[in-house]
Amino acid sequence: MSLDDAQIERYSRQLLLKEWGGAGQEQLLNSRVFLLGVGGLGAPAALYLAAAGVGTLIIADSDRVERSNLQRQILYGTPDIGQPKGETAARVLRRLNPDVEVQVIGTRVTDAILDDLLPRCDLALDASDNFDTRYALNAACLRHGKRLVTGAVLGFEGQVAVFHHGIDANASCYRCLYPAPSQRCQATCATAGVLGGVAGMIGTLQAVEAIKELLGIGTTLAGQVLLINTLDTVFHRVRVPRNPSCPTCRRS
Ligand SMILES: [Zn+2]
Repeated sequence: MSLDDAQIERYSRQLLLKEWGGAGQEQLLNSRVFLLGVGGLGAPAALYLAAAGVGTLIIADSDRVERSNLQRQILYGTPDIGQPKGETAARVLRRLNPDVEVQVIGTRVTDAILDDLLPRCDLALDASDNFDTRYALNAACLRHGKRLVTGAVLGFEGQVAVFHHGIDANASCYRCLYPAPSQRCQATCATAGVLGGVAGMIGTLQAVEAIKELLGIGTTLAGQVLLINTLDTVFHRVRVPRNPSCPTCRRS
């Protein structure tokens, strides 16, 4: 596959990057990303992944757009209230970049769905909002040898992490970081509030980390978590050690 004239023009600003080039773009166009959730994190992540030319985006979301989503879920507009997020997001993403094949899972994601989808993807991006789903995707990445980019946001704070437990037996996983759902993290945007721009920052960082992983460029957050406090403008990067008794990645 080589880039046509329209693609060379569309991607020109990233083709200029020395880490990228035509080979990187072709690699990205051949990549498949599973994006779980197109809400506050998934919306900006999906927009940047699609704009950059990730060839296939499989997006899963069973919710419908609510008015209270619009403050941060920038894929949607006021006329979309009441519409299913997955199909609405797919329409916007296809309009943004017809190079991207967008597939939609509009039901709640189960282990069976993950076991069907993940083998076909290069990488999974967790933009969900609850521990059950996060744990399920984290475990599925281990089963199917996939890399995982996670993100979470609450109030003025957020975090991003990358896990290689699917491809590296010595790597930590999401559950090494959170062996059990933490009380504080069980609070949701609905109960604790969130600043829209913070969700935008975290979702955007997830997209950037995913693209770097797909192209094998730079240094990603693999095995680390980046903690962001925007109220005081403080960023911390912390290593996530493997937990030998982790319920998910423990090797007997
Ligand atoms: Zn683990």
